[in-house]
Amino acid sequence: MDEKDYKDETLEIEEEKDDSTDKETDGYEDVCFLCHRPQSKAGKMITLGQGICICADCLQKTMDTFHDSNGDLSRIPGISMINLADLQNLIPQRQKVKAKKKKPKEEAKKVFDIRSIPAPHRIKASLDEYVIGQEYAKKVISVAVYNHYKRVATGTQDEIEIEKSNMLMIGPTGCGKTYLVKTLARLLDVPLAIADATSLTEAGYIGDDIESVISKLLAAADNDVERAEQGIVFIDEIDKIAKKKDTHHRDVSGESVQQGLLKLLEGAEIEVPVGANSKNAMVPLTTVNTRNILFICGGAFPDLENVIKERLNKKSSMGFQADLKDKYDSDPDLLGKVTLEDLRNFGMIPEFLGRLPVIFTLSSLTKEMLVRILKEPKNAILKQYQKLLALDEVQLEFDEGALEAIAGKAMEKETGARALRAIIEEFMLDIMYEIPKDDNIGRVTITREYIEHTGGPVIAMRGVLALEGAGAQ
Ligand code: ADP
Repeated sequence: MDEKDYKDETLEIEEEKDDSTDKETDGYEDVCFLCHRPQSKAGKMITLGQGICICADCLQKTMDTFHDSNGDLSRIPGISMINLADLQNLIPQRQKVKAKKKKPKEEAKKVFDIRSIPAPHRIKASLDEYVIGQEYAKKVISVAVYNHYKRVATGTQDEIEIEKSNMLMIGPTGCGKTYLVKTLARLLDVPLAIADATSLTEAGYIGDDIESVISKLLAAADNDVERAEQGIVFIDEIDKIAKKKDTHHRDVSGESVQQGLLKLLEGAEIEVPVGANSKNAMVPLTTVNTRNILFICGGAFPDLENVIKERLNKKSSMGFQADLKDKYDSDPDLLGKVTLEDLRNFGMIPEFLGRLPVIFTLSSLTKEMLVRILKEPKNAILKQYQKLLALDEVQLEFDEGALEAIAGKAMEKETGARALRAIIEEFMLDIMYEIPKDDNIGRVTITREYIEHTGGPVIAMRGVLALEGAGAQ
């Protein structure tokens, strides 16, 4: 038997073995610590403990190094044995990749079946339970996601290829952009990676490589390439990578990042490290195709309103129907009038915008919306505190006036709903500290006076509550 035949035979044996180990290891296979080949390629692994495996080839090579030509074990000057404990810091936490299933194509089970994708109105109804207001944004995102996963499920390769529905979300900070995407990913049960555009730079410069967003997604999918390929990537602060004006230097964190993102948005095969953020000699690589990954970009675009105003003023200041110059100054829905031309003037390159066909805006939150955010969502902040105190058998109640006062304070901070949590935490500290001291307290009512520091909360003792209860019956 020549050497090739021998190899084929051993491979077959390994494949048979693979199936048996698949069940035990939940589909994950070991990766050789030295040559980074997975078990399906390198054959049986020898486990050295502490999560380190070495394939038979590498082990043989290592042994050869220590034997001299006579076959005696020799000491090579300058080379010492590897101390496994020293390597612990260099090894990524997870040295395993999930093996792709070896099923024939027709049998491969699709993650998203057309029938199982919820209709847009159902997606929106689920979003309604968590996200307050932003009706337009919720509607657009539901339809776009529905179309996207329909496209993924059909996998059309014929003449009518459905275009990808990547999105661009524009809205002031704290209005729920990230929250909307997070909720969506949770409802659809797909992996989500949230990246910050400000940390991205062109490859080779200090900062994260653009491809690092895909490794984040792979990590979110538990190193399961198939799942990652149908996930969602949210890139926040996208306005920070606008083309810098009047610069004579290479724009490594602006225009170059937009250029670099183009191929990801469009769909490309990206080589990413498994279990680590950067490529280095210690981590195995795997290939992720971004064709079916949904990209959502979001940003506050702070000066965009001026760009829109300028365009609108220019248009209306000509001819007989000239308008007043400050007509748009107090327009609350100015952002909603955004066009591609405005975004281009802001500094986004046309090729980039072309790959984000769904563009929509979110409105800033009003005081009424903030009050609703406090109490209505399924995991509302007030409900969380109520649950905490309920464990001590204390009822927590908030006056309508108190809620308005909290919302008013949050409006002053101009960071949207983000300010709510900080404000509540500040005055709940005393309550959470004092109440468990006294076992007789049965109910605490937070009043407007307490929020405005002109009075205290109303406290009812258990005895009084019991009397009230008896009276009601
Ligand atoms: P940004 O628009 O800056 O990404 P986030 O989505 O991070 O803002 O919002 C911050 C927090 O405020 C969220 O975690 C969420 O709890 C709350 N929030 C913001 N907008 C809404 C909303 N419309 N409905 C419910 N909660 C919201």
